[in-house]
Formats: sequence, C-alpha cells, structure tokens
Amino acid sequence: MVLSMVDQHKPKCYLCNETFENIEELRKHQEVTHKEFIEYHKSSHEHSSAPGDVTVF
Ligand SMILES: [Zn+2]
Repeated sequence: MVLSMVDQHKPKCYLCNETFENIEELRKHQEVTHKEFIEYHKSSHEHSSAPGDVTVF
C-alpha cells in the first residue's frame, strides 16, 4: 500500500496525531495502541460499583 499524499479528510488519532484510512482503522488503532486510555474512559463512564464484586488486577 502506498500513501502518496496526505488526505485531510482521513480520521486522525487525537492521542498521537496519526492518520488512518477510515474510522474503523482509527478505532482499531486506539483499541490496541491506546488500550489503557480507552479502557480508562470506558470504566469511568460505567462507574457502577457493585459491593462484594471487586476485581483487582
Ligand atoms: Zn493514536
């Protein structure tokens, strides 16, 4: 695959400024490269504390 020019319309990762072919690639990239960041934000959204069900990694 050859990327000959910069496409302004391509989705860009706001964490590392990398550009991707489409939003799916960007999402995949963030789930792998910025896994901890994504999961941190996910868990902060569903901040439901279940008493007695505490998992520590
Ligand atoms: Zn990134």
